[in-house]
Amino acid sequence: MMPTPTAVTVRAAAKINLHLGVGAPRDDGFHPLTTVYQAVGLCDDVTAHPADDLSVDIAGADWVDADAIPTDSGNLAHRAGVLLGDHHGRELGARLVVEKSIPVAGGLAGGSADAAAALVALDRLHDLGTSDTDLLRIAARLGSDVPFALLGGTALGTGRGEVVEPVADVGTWWWVMVPSLEGLSTPAVYRHFDQLFPDASPTPPDAEALLGALRTGQPVSLARALRNDLQEPAIDLRPELGRLIEHGESEGALRGIVSGSGPTVVFLCESADHARDLAGALMRTGSPVVLVANGAVAGSHVVPAHV
Ligand code: ATP
Repeated sequence: MMPTPTAVTVRAAAKINLHLGVGAPRDDGFHPLTTVYQAVGLCDDVTAHPADDLSVDIAGADWVDADAIPTDSGNLAHRAGVLLGDHHGRELGARLVVEKSIPVAGGLAGGSADAAAALVALDRLHDLGTSDTDLLRIAARLGSDVPFALLGGTALGTGRGEVVEPVADVGTWWWVMVPSLEGLSTPAVYRHFDQLFPDASPTPPDAEALLGALRTGQPVSLARALRNDLQEPAIDLRPELGRLIEHGESEGALRGIVSGSGPTVVFLCESADHARDLAGALMRTGSPVVLVANGAVAGSHVVPAHV
């Protein structure tokens, strides 16, 4: 007799971009990237419960705007289920419960994390045995950041970010993360990049300085090497992000930077204690939500339910 499948919970982390070099748009409209991703300890959990049909339910931390997330086929976790089913030539039923802690449209790739977690959860629930290569290929079709959400750790991303390889990272890095209450559209930030930099090179700036800094394990070196080519367009669209960065640095952050396309701002700190102190200072001076996370953490992985 077949054993009754039980629910499977998979955890996937938010990403920040330590280096985001952006080139001029390609013929297919995507921007070529050289990026260094780091997975940080701010995670969504996706639980796949046995069910006949595929559906998505959202539960969110109080700083997550759950109303902004579709629960129909527009949800990336749902799309992941459809693409994985197509790959295996069958429909995959499951009730996917997404417990979100990653802010929505925050430049932290929360939707990509959910897609990656859903792929792994559905693979395990239905005992599909999908190879890592196939999972990465399906992930790349779901979105540029989804392969990294499977891989985790610290990785170099090329192509449009979907070609990922792990890189040497000897440090434990402490981040204070300040999400905005209102998200920022990734396509709008890229469009503004194109307006600001019409002569951008087709080859994105390389990540050598950042990779070298990672190998030192020294926060001060990493702080100097952080780079985000989307920061200027993001700040142009949201000037308060520039003021927030200046404020965090005046409160002692080694460096503040917009994460990906924003609007989340992340501040690099010396240590866990330093991060807690900075978080306290930012909360006292009016930031409604301030989170502390360290990196690098693991990619999408199965966890016992309710851990
Ligand atoms: P990226 O940096 O990869 O563009 P982001 O962190 O800025 O990502 P997401 O939180 O991934 O943004 O969400 C972008 C949009 O995707 C949201 O506005 C939402 O409507 C849609 N979306 C679809 N599925 C999800 C999901 N599971 N979680 C969050 N948003 C989702």
